[in-house]
Amino acid sequence: MSKQHQLQELKLQELNKKMLACEKCDLRQTCTQVVPGAGSAEAEIIFVGEGPGKEEDKQGIPFVGAAGKFLDEMLNIINLKREDVYIANVVKCRPPNNRDPLPEETKTCWPWLEQQIKIINPKLIITLGRHSLERFLPGQKISQVHGKVLRRSAPGIGTRIFYALYHPAAALYNGSMRGVLIKDFKKIPKVLEVIDKKENNTIENINDKKKSLQKSLL
Ligand code: URA
Repeated sequence: MSKQHQLQELKLQELNKKMLACEKCDLRQTCTQVVPGAGSAEAEIIFVGEGPGKEEDKQGIPFVGAAGKFLDEMLNIINLKREDVYIANVVKCRPPNNRDPLPEETKTCWPWLEQQIKIINPKLIITLGRHSLERFLPGQKISQVHGKVLRRSAPGIGTRIFYALYHPAAALYNGSMRGVLIKDFKKIPKVLEVIDKKENNTIENINDKKKSLQKSLL
């Protein structure tokens, strides 16, 4: 493990300790435990879901229920394991009865995600579902931006490259959305490749490249 990686791991561990002790909003009163996130501190990709569900709340690990199994399957298709990426959520505590997190809850929890992103410094932030997308890129419609590479700045984390996907839980039992999600997911390696090759290119170029790569993948 490189010095840099060791330092990132240490910083994440310190951050996790603080998150586990967080009681800044009422979600901590009703959840079983805080679910900080899981994966590699030097991941190129961070996946950001909405918030822990029942199984995640029980185990303290993100995406371990039905949606998580589907996420693992899709990672497997592109030859990645969950240990290769980082998986986190917009809110770290389960909202009661899986209700949507309230705006003040996501706002209160945001600094944790912000610090996770700063420590890991991923090449690509992949939002899972509309709530995660809305948190980073307010006003964007998931039906319009899914599967597109977007270079945008977001509060506290500077300019980053985003890739929006439908949420695995929403797509799990919806045949057409499932197909779209898998298709978008399969493009992730090419998206990373293009980012690597064209770090300084404009995003229009990246999207053009992606379109032609997309054609060659079909
Ligand atoms: N759904 C999410 O958004 N996050 C999880 O961790 C699990 C399910």
